[in-house]
Amino acid sequence: MAFSLLFTAPAFADEARPWSASPAPTAEGETQHWGYIESIGPEHWGELPGASACAQGHSETPIALETRGAIPDTHLAPYFQYRPSHVHMVNNGHTVEFTYDAGSSVRVNGREYTLAQFHFHTPSEHTEDGKRFPLEMHLVHKDSNGGVVVVGVFIKEGEPNRVLDAAFSHLPHDPGAHSDLEHGFINAAALLPREQAYFQYQGSLTTPPCTEGVEWFVMTKPIEMSDAQIAAFQRLPYLNPNSRSLQPLNGRTVYLHTASR
Ligand SMILES: [Zn+2]
Repeated sequence: MAFSLLFTAPAFADEARPWSASPAPTAEGETQHWGYIESIGPEHWGELPGASACAQGHSETPIALETRGAIPDTHLAPYFQYRPSHVHMVNNGHTVEFTYDAGSSVRVNGREYTLAQFHFHTPSEHTEDGKRFPLEMHLVHKDSNGGVVVVGVFIKEGEPNRVLDAAFSHLPHDPGAHSDLEHGFINAAALLPREQAYFQYQGSLTTPPCTEGVEWFVMTKPIEMSDAQIAAFQRLPYLNPNSRSLQPLNGRTVYLHTASR
């Protein structure tokens, strides 16, 4: 069962990790040592213990999302019940993760998934009709049975993002560093694009152990951040790039839910 992996090797999974921080990947020779370039890059992730899906999986993420060829969606739209959270950021050496206070969730197919954290990749991991964005945000939700729902949001260069402004001025710079905004609150609801059209498909974690069985929703409309905000993330050490390459679709169906439906 795919989900058992989530619990046998939690320290590996950015998408699946619970609230506690994993050891920073700075100590040489750590078994958790993986990254995005050269000998620790994605083409070697499958060699990590418990991470064979990274090399041998058939339903992996990210994928090239294409409007043409996506099947009109007939599922119920996810229902977001997000509340404000304190701002707790941790640089885990693979991304900057915003751990989210308890009490926010998304409802998918009658099940409730709790928002655990969101984080960023540069450049975007998915592509949309061949286009790659400078950043992609992943909102990671989990239920009590180990089910994982990830909502992806593309970020394009544009107006400064007010919701993330204070946080992105205080991003934790080095692996292992934390940054908490003492009086800072953030509401992830304000980070979703206004028009909630999305692609939906079955995929995986995009970090080791690349566990499959993850329900993906990727919003078709990007949100905006300023050039300076995007640059604030992109100049953090080790995190540019922090994006896995596109994976084969292998016959999977990609659904497209448009706002008019
Ligand atoms: Zn991610």
